[in-house]
Amino acid sequence: MIVILKPNVTRNSDEFNTVMDYLSGLPEIKVRVHEEIGTEQTLTELYLIGRTSTLSAEDISAMPGVGRVVRVSEEYRILGRHRDESRPTSFAYNGVRFGQDTLNVFAGLCAVDNPTHVEHMMQALREHGQVCTRMGAYKPRTNPYAFQGHGKDCLPWVFELAGKYGIRVIAMEVTHENHIVEIRDALAKTGQPTGVMLQIGTRNTQNFELLKACGRQREFPVLLKRGFGITLNESLNAAEYLASEGNARVVFGLRGMKTNMGDPHRNFVDFAHVPVVKRLTRMPVCVDPSHSVGSRDRGPEGLLDVMHVTAQGIIAGANMVLVDFHPAPAKALVDGPQALLLEELPHFLEDVRIAREAYEKRAALAREYVAKD
Ligand code: PEP
Ligand code: MN
Repeated sequence: MIVILKPNVTRNSDEFNTVMDYLSGLPEIKVRVHEEIGTEQTLTELYLIGRTSTLSAEDISAMPGVGRVVRVSEEYRILGRHRDESRPTSFAYNGVRFGQDTLNVFAGLCAVDNPTHVEHMMQALREHGQVCTRMGAYKPRTNPYAFQGHGKDCLPWVFELAGKYGIRVIAMEVTHENHIVEIRDALAKTGQPTGVMLQIGTRNTQNFELLKACGRQREFPVLLKRGFGITLNESLNAAEYLASEGNARVVFGLRGMKTNMGDPHRNFVDFAHVPVVKRLTRMPVCVDPSHSVGSRDRGPEGLLDVMHVTAQGIIAGANMVLVDFHPAPAKALVDGPQALLLEELPHFLEDVRIAREAYEKRAALAREYVAKD
């Protein structure tokens, strides 16, 4: 059960204390306080864990300071929808809004290699009105002898270049909680020129200590990739770990499943789950066409498979696209074969726009038909 307090009823107010005193006195019930940071206001929510079935939602709703009471199922207590349409499905970070109704493209380098390539990438993004990018500094690699990323050494110049080209949010994978500290320090030392969305990769979806560390901090939102060999339910529970520690600013990323059934694609594309995640949870959903497809192969009409699956994700309502580009893929240190070229950026963005327009028309049509029912 979630007790949602009225706006402005915050910790230590008289009303908050009265409600807390009452709830804490209930037998076999534990109360956990959670602040839901929306775009317009912060709502304080009280999570009641334990034997809540016998509690009267009406009595609790009638208490001063209580806005309303929502009964939740066991799954995804914080991030789930629970048939309640009024809790937020979006958040803002560093001037960019992320929601189940928005679309942001994060085109960029799989792995940061050198300042020239990073600068060329960011220059192209600015030329095409983009304010988000992806930049891998910490790379989890299958082979221990493969390039592991420049780590914290590259952060100052990556952040400075981002500031120079008006980049507001960089998706950057972290594989250890120390990386959060290194990112925070580098941003502070360079004067906060940009923002970072912490990315948890598919190999770490169930790294519970990393999830808890990313959930304990509230400064950075998190992009959690689906685990490539576990069920959707298991990956959504992983997202709930972040929220249960206090950070509900989470985007859920689909990136394909590891199985030979998807051959010749690198992973089996799972973007049919975009509407499923949006229905079950309040998280915006990201698709990663690059790590799903893993090549620059194209269909007979000339469209790259990466562009086809991007469109498939967007036409199904995806809210974010994480896609590999590189100014010189042959020289890329990681995942060059799947990177799009900078010259392909305008084509890619126009294709994204067409797919989004189609999604919006489909959604409007559905609203018309549902209204007739
Ligand atoms: C990545 O986005 O660079 C990455 C390693 O992705 P994934 O965790 O999905 O393999
Ligand atoms: Mn990669």
